[in-house]
Amino acid sequence: MIPRSVSSPKKFLIGAGLFDQVGEYVAEHGDFAFFVADSFFLSRIHSQTVPSLTAQSIRSHVEKFSGECTTTEIAHLSAAFKASGANVVIGVGGGKALDAAKAVAHNCKAALVLVPTIASTDAPCTALAVVYKDDGTFDHYLFLPHNPDTVLADTAIIAQAPARFFAAGVGDALATYFEARATWRCSGTNLILKKPSRTGLGLGQMCYEILRKNIDATMDAVRNKAVTPALEETIEATIYLSGVGAEAAGVAAAHAVNNGMAVVPALHSAQHGEKVAFGLLTQLVLENAPLAEVQEVIRIIKAAGLPLALRDFGLTEWIEAEWREVAKVACDKNDTMGNMGRPISEQEVYDAMLAANALAERYHD
Ligand SMILES: [Zn+2]
Repeated sequence: MIPRSVSSPKKFLIGAGLFDQVGEYVAEHGDFAFFVADSFFLSRIHSQTVPSLTAQSIRSHVEKFSGECTTTEIAHLSAAFKASGANVVIGVGGGKALDAAKAVAHNCKAALVLVPTIASTDAPCTALAVVYKDDGTFDHYLFLPHNPDTVLADTAIIAQAPARFFAAGVGDALATYFEARATWRCSGTNLILKKPSRTGLGLGQMCYEILRKNIDATMDAVRNKAVTPALEETIEATIYLSGVGAEAAGVAAAHAVNNGMAVVPALHSAQHGEKVAFGLLTQLVLENAPLAEVQEVIRIIKAAGLPLALRDFGLTEWIEAEWREVAKVACDKNDTMGNMGRPISEQEVYDAMLAANALAERYHD
C-alpha cells in the first residue's frame, strides 16, 4: 500500500524584516550559526544579523557559496561546517545556495534555517536538492528525509530582487494546480514517491486563486520594489503553496516538458519557471482544457511578464530534431508524464508543443 502524503517545513514565516530577527529563529535550534550565502549577499549578512544573533548569545561563521550546487561544493561546505563547530546551517540566497545548504545540513545532521533572497523556485520548502556536475550540467536529485526546519521569507528582501526572477516563481507556481489536478485524477505519484493527498490538491487550488486575484497588483509592487499585501500573498503562493503543494500533490506534463526543454541549447539561459509556463500551455493542449481556463492562464503569464511564445525566449527558429528530442526526454519513463493519467506518446507531446506555441502566438499581443 502506498500512502497519501503531506510534508512541509516545520515553520514557514513571512514578513518584512524577518532576516533582522534571525537570531530568534536560530536560538530554537542551536547556539552557533553557519551561514552558506550567495556572494552578492555576503556583505549584508554581518550588518543585518549580528544584533539579533548577539542578543541571543549566538556565535556565527559565514561561508561563501560558489554559485553551483555540486558534489564538490557540498563536500567543501560540509567540511567547513564540521571544522567550525557550528550546529545550525543557515542558507541565504537563490535556489542553488539553498539546495547546497540543505545537503550540508543533511550530511552534518544539523538543524536548517533557509532565507530565500528571490522567489523564483520551489527550493525553500521542499525536501529535494538538485545537484549539478562541475561543468554545470544536471547530475542528480538528492532526496532528503526531511524538509527544512524553518523558512524565513523576508518580503523586504524578496521585493528587491529583479522582476524576471519573481516572474519565474509565478510560472512555477502557476503550474502547481494543473499538475496537482492531473496527478489527483489518476492517483499518480507525488514528489516524495507517495500518492497525492487531498491537502496537496487544495494547496494547489489556493495557489492558483491567489495568483488569479493578485498578479497585476503584485507585479506593480515587484517592478517598483514595494512591499504590499498583494505581494506578500503572492510570495506565500510562490514559495510555500507551490513547493509544499507540488511535493504533496505531484507534478505532471508541465514539468516533464520543462525537463525536456533542457536539451535545446538556445534555452540554456531560460529560468526554470519560464520553461514550466510553456510546459503548462503544452499540458493544457494535451488535456484540451476549457477555453476560459486557457485564457486565464495566458492572462497571468502575460501579466507576470513571462515568455509566452517561444520567440519570447529568444528562439528564432523551430528546429524539428531538437523538439523531437524534447518530446523524447519529456516522455522518459522516470519523468512525470505518467501523472497525466493516460499513455502519452512522443508524437503527441511534439504536436502539443507545436500547438502550444501557435496558441501563444494567437494571444501574443
Ligand atoms: Zn518547478
